[in-house]
Amino acid sequence: MNASTPLFENAQKHLVGGVNSPVRAFKSVGGTPLFVSKAKGAYLYGPDNQRYIDYIGSWGPMILGHANEQVLQAVREAIELGLSYGAPSEKETELAIAVKTLMPSIEKLRLCSSGTEATMSAIRLARGFTGRDVILKFEGCYHGHSDSLLVKAGSGALTLGVPTSPGVPAELAQFTYTLPYNDVAALHQVFSEAGDRIAAVILEPITGNMNMIKPLDGYLEAMRTLCTEHGTLLIYDEVMTGFRVAAGGAQSLQGITPDLTCLGKVIGGGMPVGAFGGRADVMAQLAPEGPVYQAGTLSGNPVAMAAGLETLKGLSAEGFFDKLQNKTDVLTAGLKTAAHEAGVPLCTEMAGGMFGFFFSDAERVTSFEQATACDAPAFNRFFHSMLDQGVYLAPSHYEAGFISAAHTQADLDQTLSAARVAFKAAR
Ligand code: PLP
Repeated sequence: MNASTPLFENAQKHLVGGVNSPVRAFKSVGGTPLFVSKAKGAYLYGPDNQRYIDYIGSWGPMILGHANEQVLQAVREAIELGLSYGAPSEKETELAIAVKTLMPSIEKLRLCSSGTEATMSAIRLARGFTGRDVILKFEGCYHGHSDSLLVKAGSGALTLGVPTSPGVPAELAQFTYTLPYNDVAALHQVFSEAGDRIAAVILEPITGNMNMIKPLDGYLEAMRTLCTEHGTLLIYDEVMTGFRVAAGGAQSLQGITPDLTCLGKVIGGGMPVGAFGGRADVMAQLAPEGPVYQAGTLSGNPVAMAAGLETLKGLSAEGFFDKLQNKTDVLTAGLKTAAHEAGVPLCTEMAGGMFGFFFSDAERVTSFEQATACDAPAFNRFFHSMLDQGVYLAPSHYEAGFISAAHTQADLDQTLSAARVAFKAAR
């Protein structure tokens, strides 16, 4: 029994599973989810005001830390001017310009309210633009919960053991081809068999939904070439990696230009914002310029725009990502050492303010198969020991972790000394 227990028991009477997003329910790690009463900087606070060092950051958005003063001030000012207009406002253009400046592959964009909307709409646009129905995705990549994309999806669904959700019609799922990630031969084969029927390839250019996996050398280059040769659009889902692994997202690190990019999480600084954008000729097919329909009552919401703009401003500061990456480095290197000392096999991955660690004796995890073969019970023991010591990690071994500008060296030290205990408990 902890302070969250009565709150969770009551929530379960009224909310399905007591939560409003499945992975929050601690299904795979077991136990009671932490109920949060407030958040500030690098910390979440439980119902009894107990402090936790947070490495989820609301699943990615809180790159400046929770309740960042500049973001709060911008939101306060925006609130005074009205909560929603349902008509254009200048802040939407300002956010569009800020995004385009950071991600030059985006010539035109559309703002929406979630990552799911962004990927769902980008798929519809790609189908409308190419006149083709088939899309290609990768096992373990999660792109939100729209029907076409909830086929062999990553983390949340994997954690619950439902790789493809009931409720997705088989007639629709047949248009979603799935391939193993990082398998260049499979890519060549599917393009040689069906290339002229594939509207789009969608992927996480660095994955965060089967834990953190990076593309192997040459993989994305091959994908880009095949897409161009076959008139298939390449869609980067940077909902997680955008403004997170680098200011310009994974595409700025990898030097590949996608046709479309999907964004979410950091772009709203904690408020509900998503976006998709890219080539101007493709985006011109979207209503009201073109026939492909997409809309949103709260799209471009002025309060959300204020939070997003201030967040992008914060992370655009000179040296921001160097400092962030340095912290992630210290954390992942420290975790590896602590695991090694405890005799626990562990390998890690990191970029910018995102990291992953696998209970695996592999030198590097680069495939979905390897990710699923990791020692989940050991992770679960580690997770609970960390939680008991005041460190809040994502409650599934399929999730990546996030660090913020607000995390201090003292936070990292405390995390690593907790990890030394937790790895022993995990053995
Ligand atoms: N795409 C990726 C890569 C994600 O990680 C997520 C959410 O975690 C989504 C899309 C869906 O975003 P949202 O939860 O905002 O709908």
